[in-house]
Amino acid sequence: MIVPKTIRTYCPYCRRHTKHTVSIYKIAPKRRALSKGQRRAKRHRKGHGNKGRYSKKPITQIKTHAKVTKRGVLVLKCSECNKVHHKSLGQRMKKLELKR
Ligand SMILES: [Zn+2]
Repeated sequence: MIVPKTIRTYCPYCRRHTKHTVSIYKIAPKRRALSKGQRRAKRHRKGHGNKGRYSKKPITQIKTHAKVTKRGVLVLKCSECNKVHHKSLGQRMKKLELKR
C-alpha cells in the first residue's frame, strides 16, 4: 500500500480536520539486555516454580508468527498544533510505503 506524505484528516487535539505529515510507525528496538531491571527480573525468575500459578512475574512467551502480513499504522503529525497521534489502517498488508 502506498500512502501520500501529507493527508488532511481529523486531529483530536484541534478537534477538526487539519493537514498532517505522515510517517510509518515502527516498533521500538529491543530493551536494554543488561540494565538493572532486566538483571533483577532474570534473578527473580531463577529456580523452580517460577512459572506457576502463583508466580509474580509471568514469562512472556514469544509465539512463532502465524501471519505473514501486518496491520499498517501511520504516525500523523498535525501541522497546526505539532502533536502526534497514530492511525491504524485496519487492513493487513505486506508492504507499506510513503509516496515519493
Ligand atoms: Zn492539531
